Amino acid sequence: MIIKEITCKNCMTKSKLTDYVINPYTGCSHGCKYCYADFIKRFQNIPYEWGDFVYVKINCSELLEKELEKNKPGNIWLSSVCDPYLHLEAKYKLTRRILEIISKSKYKNKYSIEILTKSSLVRRDFDVLKNLNVELGCSINTLNEDYSRKIEPFASSPKERIKVLKDAKKHGIKVYGFISPVLPGITDLDELFKELAFCEYVWIEILNIKKSILDKFLPFIKDNYADKIIEFEYMINNYDDYCNKIEKHAKELSEKYCLKIKEVVRHDLK
Ligand code: SF4
Repeated sequence: MIIKEITCKNCMTKSKLTDYVINPYTGCSHGCKYCYADFIKRFQNIPYEWGDFVYVKINCSELLEKELEKNKPGNIWLSSVCDPYLHLEAKYKLTRRILEIISKSKYKNKYSIEILTKSSLVRRDFDVLKNLNVELGCSINTLNEDYSRKIEPFASSPKERIKVLKDAKKHGIKVYGFISPVLPGITDLDELFKELAFCEYVWIEILNIKKSILDKFLPFIKDNYADKIIEFEYMINNYDDYCNKIEKHAKELSEKYCLKIKEVVRHDLK
């Protein structure tokens, strides 16, 4: 793994996904086989393979206080091209520093914060999170440990992620489940809704089937879960129909478990 300490010009970045994103790191060490955050390499001229590098933005928290003052109110999302609780965060504490600065800022009420992680390291920061207007989510697409170990090899296990959300809730932190990405033949929506029923809501994202993602992900599925290929091919060839079925099923489960759905995200194939 190539680790580079770099400096950045902004901490908060305006985003089409929400109002602002903060990425204390560029790159990610969780190794998810379906990841599509590697698009950022093109914009930042990064020569390494996705998963082989992490850039650490060592000065990002120093820029934040002024940006909190100057920027318009809005939602801040951590993070879009990394997990804010990568293993390196245990050493660098950039995410923690960012949260501490927001929690002590006189402008903190201008912002809501959304955190999304696959790491139980977030537990370390419950003391700061409980003083913020924050929603904490964990991405999870299966409860099956074997699938998860192979598909998301360096993230915390699904059981740990669910336990993290339950413990966060006990600390008074709002929690949500991010069922993402829905994988044909692998994601069991019934069991996930049942397990996540204690959350405020769930978000669901269906697998992005852009060619650049499938070129990497499908060979992995063929090598490891050949029996799932027929279901993947059905989804790829009937994407709208597949998404409609998932949406319908999710609505039924939402009623059954009294668990709100924030959104079912399907990807534009163009
Ligand atoms: S945690 Fe997110 S950014 Fe990191 S490898 Fe997985 S999908 Fe990609």
